[in-house]
Amino acid sequence: MEFSKRDLPKKSENLSEWYNKIVLQAELADYGPARGTMIYRPYGYAIWELVQKEMDALIKEKGVSNAYFPLFIPESLLKKEEKHVEGFSPELAVVTIGGGEELAEKLVVRPTSETIMYDAYARWVHSWRDLPLLINQWNNVVRWEKRTYLFLRTTEFLWQEGHTAHASHEESWDMVTWAMDMYKTIYKDLFALPGYVGKKSESEKFAGADVTLTFESLMPEGKALQSCTSHDLGQNFSKPFNISFLDKEGASQYAWQTSWGFSTRALGGLIMAHGDDNGLRLPPKLAPIQVVIIPVKPGEQILTACEAMKNTLKAVGLRVHLDTGDNETFGSKINTWELKGVPLRLEVGLKELAAGIVSAARRDTGEKISIKQNILADECKKILDEIQENLYAQAHAFLENNTKSIETYDEFKKSFEVQKGFLRALWCESAECEQKIKEETKATTRCLPLNTPSEQGSCIYCGKEAKNRWLFAQSY
Ligand SMILES: [Zn+2]
Repeated sequence: MEFSKRDLPKKSENLSEWYNKIVLQAELADYGPARGTMIYRPYGYAIWELVQKEMDALIKEKGVSNAYFPLFIPESLLKKEEKHVEGFSPELAVVTIGGGEELAEKLVVRPTSETIMYDAYARWVHSWRDLPLLINQWNNVVRWEKRTYLFLRTTEFLWQEGHTAHASHEESWDMVTWAMDMYKTIYKDLFALPGYVGKKSESEKFAGADVTLTFESLMPEGKALQSCTSHDLGQNFSKPFNISFLDKEGASQYAWQTSWGFSTRALGGLIMAHGDDNGLRLPPKLAPIQVVIIPVKPGEQILTACEAMKNTLKAVGLRVHLDTGDNETFGSKINTWELKGVPLRLEVGLKELAAGIVSAARRDTGEKISIKQNILADECKKILDEIQENLYAQAHAFLENNTKSIETYDEFKKSFEVQKGFLRALWCESAECEQKIKEETKATTRCLPLNTPSEQGSCIYCGKEAKNRWLFAQSY
């Protein structure tokens, strides 16, 4: 399919229009027929598979095993933890009819799996020898949404959810921080995205958690995106679900639990953060196609050479595509692969072949490079590493330039009217001030970054004593 650049609004001029169009045009996703749903198309799903592959290995290395629990949760299970059900009620999808008959008990389509998993954990855990119990699942969850924003806000999305039970709080907290560190690594190494890791406020934390850790990245229009969280559940679920064990001394104790999830929302962040006016710019580690080879003209000699190059690159583990299609002109092929964000493009013509070189173009910078054919694989790998690093460096500079400390509420309000971004401000931690700030500026507390030293000062809103400088931002 051919795309004209005219169809794509400028990212710098209209981010949300650009975003909606690029997701469709790059064939990452499409709208589903039911409101709020989306189709992950092969090119978009391939990115998710790359994330899965890397993350799954890290999860298993930690000793966590994959399993799969049912999609339907009996309503009574969901109601066992009071705050949990209260938090999720507004966004539940509920099945009331099955096989043509009214169900005796309603079934909730999982919004998250704590309750259905912990019902089983109670049966599986009896002694300290059964702990830790470390399970992860890759699945879909449903949270009713009124407005769709592909990847970023959909009724059904994909994620992994890890759920662990431990004999002590020390051990469970270790798991909570391990999961967040792992996410941060994935974000940095694969997504080429930096962000802030911190603790959520009482009102923003997960329904049923004692502490929620979050990773917050920054999108081009200055809004924060949260796409993964790690929760210290304390004994909030183990008590109502009766996940108890006999410790080494023979005393009965409740287990300490964690849950942590990373969703396909992150792909929305990836698209938005790195894309430009010409389309996607995928970091090489998450690009389904890392190198595309385009013959300048059809013809046997060129094609044979292209095939050989493709095999050379495949042999060193690169994901390569040779575009032999003849229904597009050379120029429109370039546009298509730019739009789809392929990090490195090779252009092969007779002139280049005769000279023993290949013309290459970097998607991140647009730079044209001439590569000697006899060192093609090594050079491509080197350039892809540079692209990965460059995208991270750009995102990092953007984050740094758009995070600032603010001392007065006037400045705070003004800042959200213009440049946005993350603001560090002292807040007294009362829910009332938090709510007022949200109403007046649309900004919410994003997190209290870990290892932030305490300060002596006054709340930016009410002037009362405040000890911590929180990160505020508008968010998706
Ligand atoms: Zn206050």
